Amino acid sequence: MATRERSATDSVVEARARYVAAGVATPPFVVARAEGARVEDVDGRTYIDFAGGLGCQNTGHGLPSAVAAIHDQVDRYLHQCFMVGVYEPYVDVCRRLAELSPCRGAEQKSLLLNSGAEAVENAVKIARVATGRPAVVVFDRAFHGRTLLAMTMTSKVVPYKRGFGPFAPEVYRAPAPYPYRDVSTDDAIDGLEALLKSDVDPQAVACVVLEPVQGEGGLIPMPRDFPPRLRELCDRHGILYVDDEVQSGVARTGPVWAIEHYGVEPDLLVSGKSLGGGLPLAAVTGRSEVVDAVAPGGLGGTFGGNPVACAAAVAVLDEVVTESFQRRARELGERIREALDGIASRVGAVGEVRGLGPMLALELVEDRETKAPASSLAGATVAAARERGLLVLSCGLYGNVIRILVPLVIGDEDLERGLELLEESLVAASASA
Ligand code: PLP
Repeated sequence: MATRERSATDSVVEARARYVAAGVATPPFVVARAEGARVEDVDGRTYIDFAGGLGCQNTGHGLPSAVAAIHDQVDRYLHQCFMVGVYEPYVDVCRRLAELSPCRGAEQKSLLLNSGAEAVENAVKIARVATGRPAVVVFDRAFHGRTLLAMTMTSKVVPYKRGFGPFAPEVYRAPAPYPYRDVSTDDAIDGLEALLKSDVDPQAVACVVLEPVQGEGGLIPMPRDFPPRLRELCDRHGILYVDDEVQSGVARTGPVWAIEHYGVEPDLLVSGKSLGGGLPLAAVTGRSEVVDAVAPGGLGGTFGGNPVACAAAVAVLDEVVTESFQRRARELGERIREALDGIASRVGAVGEVRGLGPMLALELVEDRETKAPASSLAGATVAAARERGLLVLSCGLYGNVIRILVPLVIGDEDLERGLELLEESLVAASASA
C-alpha cells in the first residue's frame, strides 16, 4: 500500500501535539497566511473562511487601513503601559467608543483590556463599585470567558467548567429565552422574577449580563421584547444592565452593536474580538458616573489597550461605520439567510435557521419532531467542510449548531462557493451518520 508523503501540516500538528497543552482544542489545520475571507494552509491549500478567527475578523483578515495603522504604530513604539505613559491611540479608541456607544447617559468613557473575559470581569468590578452590591445575574447558555469569574458566569460544564472549581461566589443564573425550544420571553422573565424571590435579593444584585445574540451557547438571538423587558426589570430594582457584545458587536449583526436592533440602552457595554481587527483588544464602555465610580488605580493592567492593537481598532471602528460596509453587511445577512433557508428546505437535519443580520446559524437535530440535538452531525459537518476547503464552526450547549461568522468583506463568488460547500458537507455528513 502506498504511504502518503508527510505534509507540512503533519509536521506542525505533530510538534503541536508534543509541545502544546492538550487542553487547547485544535483542528488538524495549520495556517500560513490569510487575507479578506480566505485562509491558506502551510501546504498551499486555500480555504473560504466562515469562521473569521472565531468572530475576530468582521472587517476581514488584514483590513488594509488597519495593517497600515499597525505598521505606522510599530515604527513609533510597541508598548508603554497606559499607567506609565498616556498615549493617543488608547484615547482615540475610547473617543470612538464614546461616539458609538449605545449606553445610557450623555458622557461615555471606556477602559481597555486584552480579552473578552478580562473585560467582562472588569464590567462586573465596575458594576459592584457603582452599586455597592455584590451579586451578578447571568443566563442559561451564556458564554462570558474562561477566567475564574467569567467561567463561573459561563453556562456549559464540559469543557468549560468540569474540574475547574471552586467557582466565584454571588453568581446567579436565570433562564434565557429560546423560542425554538419553547422558552418564551414571558418564561424567562418569570424565571428571573422567581430567582429574585427565591435565591438572591434584587437589592443585592449589581448587574445582569446578557449577550443580545448568545454566541457559544448556540447563536440564539434574544427575542425583540426580551432586552426591553429586562431593562425595565433592572430599572425597577436599581440593577445595572451589562451588554456583552464581545461576539455580537463591531458590526457582526450589521449595526455596530447588536443591542441597536432592540432599542435598549444598556448601562455598560463589553466589546472585544473584532475590535482589534485581529489584535487582542477588549473594552468596557458606559456613562462616566458608572465607569468613574472606581477610584484611580482600581482598574488597568500591564498590556490592556496596547498601542498597536489600539491603532488597528481605530481603523476597524472607522471602517464599520461606513455606508458601504453597512450596506454589504445587510446584503450578506439577507443572502446568507436565504441560502440557509434553502438548505433547511432540502436537508431534514436542519431544525432551525436563526440569527440577526449576517450573524447566522443552523441548529441540527436528529428529528424535527423530537428536536433531539444532532451533536455528532455538527462535528462531522465541520470536519467535512474543512476537507472541502471551508472553515466553519459549531457551537451550542450540545455542540449541534453550525454558526457563520464570515468576514463581512467576502466577495460574492467565495460566498456562493462557501454556501455550496456547507450544504455539500452537511449532506455528506448526514449520509455517513
Ligand atoms: N463574551 C462573549 C459573548 C464571547 O463570545 C467570548 C468569547 O467567545 C467572551 C466573552 C470571552 O472572550 P475572550 O475569549 O476574548 O476572553
